[in-house]
Amino acid sequence: MKNTKNYKTLEKIVSLCKRRGFVFPSSEIYGGFAAVYDYGPYGIELKNNLARAWWKEIVQKREDVVGLDSGIFMHPTTWKASGHLDGFDDPQIDCKDCKVRIRADHMLEEFHINADKMKAEDINKEIEKLKEKNIEFKCKNCGSKNLTPAKNFSLIVKSNLGSPTDALSEDNVVYLRPETCGGIYLNYKNILDSTRVKIPFGIAQIGKAFRNEIVARQFIFRTREFEQMEMQYFLRPSMMQEKYNEWKKIRWDWYITYGIKEENLKWLKHEKLAHYAAEAYDIEYNFPWDFDELEGIHQRGDWDLSQHQKFSGAKLDYTDPITNEKYIPHIMETSVGLNRMLLAFMCEAYTEENVNGEIRIILKFDKRLAPIKIAVFPLLKNKPELVKKAREIYDNLKEEYMCEFDDNGNIGKRYRRQDEIGTPYCVTVDFDSLEKNDVTIRDRDTMKQERIKIEKLGKWIKENLF
Ligand code: ATP
Repeated sequence: MKNTKNYKTLEKIVSLCKRRGFVFPSSEIYGGFAAVYDYGPYGIELKNNLARAWWKEIVQKREDVVGLDSGIFMHPTTWKASGHLDGFDDPQIDCKDCKVRIRADHMLEEFHINADKMKAEDINKEIEKLKEKNIEFKCKNCGSKNLTPAKNFSLIVKSNLGSPTDALSEDNVVYLRPETCGGIYLNYKNILDSTRVKIPFGIAQIGKAFRNEIVARQFIFRTREFEQMEMQYFLRPSMMQEKYNEWKKIRWDWYITYGIKEENLKWLKHEKLAHYAAEAYDIEYNFPWDFDELEGIHQRGDWDLSQHQKFSGAKLDYTDPITNEKYIPHIMETSVGLNRMLLAFMCEAYTEENVNGEIRIILKFDKRLAPIKIAVFPLLKNKPELVKKAREIYDNLKEEYMCEFDDNGNIGKRYRRQDEIGTPYCVTVDFDSLEKNDVTIRDRDTMKQERIKIEKLGKWIKENLF
């Protein structure tokens, strides 16, 4: 199914993100820096709320999953063992005329050839076959046929650590992790030895990952620096299918609970699997351009721990406490990009309504995710009694919730601003408030207003927010 939410264009989302302080392009004053984005005051709140909601479901509510925060830099052999140094490539094609670099698998996709995980050599064979059928292979950007053959292009970002004199020696090469799970595998034994976990159990981590993406595209969907939220679940092979199905359901339901409509999600089964994988599915979201990958839920067999055991020489097997049987645990993972998730939730929340001939833009976030929970306004900014009372309310509420105080412009404009950042409730102090000790509370979605006694406001908000 192609996109049906045709008013929710990516351009509108990008523009709102910039205009309202969610996401900014990196290094703008220096002319920009491709494929990196910065998160502004509302973006960071939303990102934190999403991460917290994920952590709550994956770690806090479960006895069998624990958390971890491992370093971005790791022993370089980690990436030799994992296969990233030898095989983490995206074949690329360069246009000799306009110099644009294109992902070769994306070019073949246009001819309905699934080139996911294909190496450059195989891609070039496919291109030859197309040419034999007189199919022209052209640059997507300028239409030129003057293209290089596909070449493998490593996605792993290199750096150097150490003293300035030997910083350039090969020995000091380190890698910025291309995925967070490497740190989980390297700490699996530490966690086994220091906590009470027993198989089956999971380790979850949220952190930065880096990939030298050839073509970063679609705003924050694919960037060179991003955050991943990953959970690796260690189990005995016989438990795999049951646990895998359980986690698939948990992750699907989580999106629905936090406000994604089921019709905007779909499963994609991987037809081409990594050699160690038995089954892999992605959850796809209906982004403004089409359904596209949001989260991966994959079976990984015993590949990761076996490889790290082989390369490090450390014993990474597990001893069953009852039978004393020893084995290398198998792993299933859930892996999602936090930034990509933020984009999905932005797209889902973005709503336009026609109110008396004017377009009202609202971000209809689930209240738990909204960056600001309550905005407090004095009706007029030049009436000190109103400002004082509004400030008192704000000072009280901010102890518990992310709140905003706003006395700028007319009330209508202040409501619109809060609608555009998704604030569920606006509290206004007016002249009646001074006499009756009550306020108006206005609902973001219905725009209905209700009067509430100030002493009951805290209880009302608690009941209605969560
Ligand atoms: P793709 O095929 O899109 O390059 P992938 O299948 O290599 O992605 P995984 O390695 O499975 O992705 O990563 C797990 C998750 O991490 C993805 O589902 C996505 O949400 C996120 N992710 C991966 N690469 C990026 C990126 N460059 N920018 C933002 N998020 C990313």
